[in-house]
Amino acid sequence: MRERLFSLISKYNLKASSDLGQNFLVVQDIIERNVERAELDEKDRVLEIGPGLGVLTEALSRHAEKVYAIEKDHRLVEILRKEYDWPNVEIIEGDALKVEFPEFNKIVSNLPYQISSPITFRFLRYEFERAVLIYQLEFAQRMVAKPGDRNYSRLSLMIQAKAHAELVEKIGRGAFWPRPKVDSAVVILEPKPPDERIELHENLVRALFQHRRSTALAALKKSHHMLGLSREEFKKVKGAFSGMPHAGKRVFQLSPEEVRDIEEFLRAEGLLK
Ligand code: SAM
Repeated sequence: MRERLFSLISKYNLKASSDLGQNFLVVQDIIERNVERAELDEKDRVLEIGPGLGVLTEALSRHAEKVYAIEKDHRLVEILRKEYDWPNVEIIEGDALKVEFPEFNKIVSNLPYQISSPITFRFLRYEFERAVLIYQLEFAQRMVAKPGDRNYSRLSLMIQAKAHAELVEKIGRGAFWPRPKVDSAVVILEPKPPDERIELHENLVRALFQHRRSTALAALKKSHHMLGLSREEFKKVKGAFSGMPHAGKRVFQLSPEEVRDIEEFLRAEGLLK
């Protein structure tokens, strides 16, 4: 696989684009482990973002019914179409943040890191069973951090409101060509059942996490303008809000359920639009 990859690179004199996050996987074992983690069978329709030179696509095509591979770089799309003859792979040229997604039930990708956040939230607007994704290590650690952890952030909260996320393997930078400046990690993402998913008010979460080490009450006091509230409006409910059990908790300790409680309180007071 490594030989095939480097022969394509030299045949097409390919310069990897750092703007498109092109760091190609060169370790077959990692690919095999991720395919295994996806628990693919012949009924699965897999979405792959950024097939690159097809190393992961090749392995996916051997295990799934259908693979949809969305690639933005026209040069790579041409190479893939010329060099491979997969009967069950559809290469879709376009920006994965914009093109319409086909019907799929699993996702397996070595993601371009520039779009980690928007693409993950886009995935979570769809129904699927499981995603096996490679991210930059630091981003992956924030995705899975639990309330109270050093890395717990707005990202952790927003992801965990909708899905279970588990970091299952760290990958050193030597597993890619060209070698990136950062390490990576594999995350398995599984959407929660619909009745356990929590829709959070994005502005409220932003307002809180502007001051992640403050108590919820203090954070809202400092960020009330982000909710479109005047000082007076916030002052009116401050008394009642301070009585709430979570008001004295620090923002980085709040679980998605607790933020939902705060949201419900503010809504009941007519303070959330
Ligand atoms: N899957 C290949 C591998 O593992 O070797 C390549 C992974 S590389 C990290 C990311 C790939 O995503 C590149 O092929 C890049 O051109 C593509 N890409 C970058 N931005 C994209 C976007 N917005 N939509 C679709 N593909 C994109």
